[in-house]
Amino acid sequence: MSGTLLVPAERLTAEVLGMEVDRRAAEHGRALAAERAAIELGRPELAARAKLVAADALCRGGDPAGAAPLLHEVHRWAVRENEPYVLARCNFLLSILHTCLGDNAEARRHALLAVDHLPDYVPALIRGSHLVNLALCVDVISRADAAPYHAEALDIAAAAGDHDLSRAVLNNMAYAAYCDGDADAAGELAERMRRLAERTGVELRPPDLDTIARVLMLQGRHAEAELTLLPLVDPDARRCDVEGNMLPEVLLTLAESQRLAGALDRAAATIERCLRLCAERGMADTGARARRELAQLHATHGRWREAYEEQCRYDAESQALRSAEREERARLTQLVFESREGRREAARFREMALRDALTGLYNRRFVDAQLPALLARAAERGIPMSAALVDVDFFKRINDTLSHETGDLVLQRIAGLLAAEVDEPATVARLGGEEFVVVLPDSGGDDALTRCERLRRAVQDHDWSELTADLPVTVSIGVSTAWFGSTGAEPHRAGAGAARDGLTAAALLSQADRNLYAAKRSGRNRVLADPS
Ligand code: GH3
Ligand code: MG
Ligand code: MG
Repeated sequence: MSGTLLVPAERLTAEVLGMEVDRRAAEHGRALAAERAAIELGRPELAARAKLVAADALCRGGDPAGAAPLLHEVHRWAVRENEPYVLARCNFLLSILHTCLGDNAEARRHALLAVDHLPDYVPALIRGSHLVNLALCVDVISRADAAPYHAEALDIAAAAGDHDLSRAVLNNMAYAAYCDGDADAAGELAERMRRLAERTGVELRPPDLDTIARVLMLQGRHAEAELTLLPLVDPDARRCDVEGNMLPEVLLTLAESQRLAGALDRAAATIERCLRLCAERGMADTGARARRELAQLHATHGRWREAYEEQCRYDAESQALRSAEREERARLTQLVFESREGRREAARFREMALRDALTGLYNRRFVDAQLPALLARAAERGIPMSAALVDVDFFKRINDTLSHETGDLVLQRIAGLLAAEVDEPATVARLGGEEFVVVLPDSGGDDALTRCERLRRAVQDHDWSELTADLPVTVSIGVSTAWFGSTGAEPHRAGAGAARDGLTAAALLSQADRNLYAAKRSGRNRVLADPS
């Protein structure tokens, strides 16, 4: 015995924290017992955290509808009691829940709040896990925007000597690079995973090896990909099956590597085994993808008729699957959010964190969270999208000659004027100081210019005399457009994939900023768009 005698409250705190850090160790029964003990000890905050662990266990056990009311209950409590750590944990778990429900935008918003609400005093590994989740949510829309979150999680893992966390982060990054078709970055990350395993002895798990094999295939190293996966599918080893339903996934990757390496007989045997397992276990999604692989195998043999038939089967199965999935998601979403009160409370809280206190407009955080998603949507639909930076002219003069309070009133008035001019789906936010941004998700070129010109005039034509006497109030505006699809011939046009791997939100804003600077230089009180 070590002889460390902890008082019950400390022991309980350590136990709950342990389950928060290592989610695989969190069990429903154990969490409920911890909750009861915390209540008896008069520690409501600890009880709330234990209840969240119980909700997490339910969600992981495949019962999101059972987890949701617990999450909402704790969320209401945490808002009322102003407990930032508990709030951050709520948002973390709500993010994971929304990922399960297939709502990526909502998952991302909660992931952002989960990092944001974390107080400084929390253990680094908790921050690490919140960052890992945020990075995954952001990766879906932009690998560039996710990079800083991955990087910080890696730093935390290194500082804590948590090699397993390093492994997980590297795997996520490698997989995202693979999905982007970025063979160089993916190759380098896969290599780092291998070196980490060698150096620290941390074991690479089946999902890691699956990623490594996919990256090797991306590099054209098909035989090496096969060798990487073979040990996992050895019927004697069975290592793969401890990872849930990983074996059929690994078999599918293996079959592809064998086909690409030209080992068509081995590929056929592997795909047969994969299809059999999928049928046994009711894994419809992997099964459908296995059919597509089989179609490609037939095509490689020149058996066009079989290939065509298999492809048709794949199409039919995946279509049926998508509609079954949609129904299931709708059913779950309804169950999860039937508590309307919980939803209102969550919305109110979300709003608070995303609003600017002086003007009531959205703040920079809101813009940072929304812009990448809006760009991705514009890219998907092939429509242009614009962002305009609005900066008050000679604002310092208003502060200096009148007063800072008057300056504040002017900012509030400008906020009101901008908000009144801007209609859905456009939004206006205050970036800070005397700078605003107007996001025009469905507008580009001349149309965006005309709308900004209206904003500029609204400020110029307003009767400012009662606030600023004879000092005029005007704004300069720099507007920039991201072009997607086939319209427009602007200089920094972007292809359909650009929001994902090219034009980032940051690039759009900095082009708008350059145009704003040009507007200031050329005399202020004017709108400048992208140079043609
Ligand atoms: P320009 O036309 O080049 O934009 O000149 P400017 O005077 O507007 O620009 P500058 O950036 O030099 O000054 C901005 C001023 O805004 C400086 C800062 O003190 C003031 N400011 C920033 N935030 C606030 C605020 O919340 N309230 C008030 N009253 N003033 C603010
Ligand atoms: Mg400024
Ligand atoms: Mg200014």
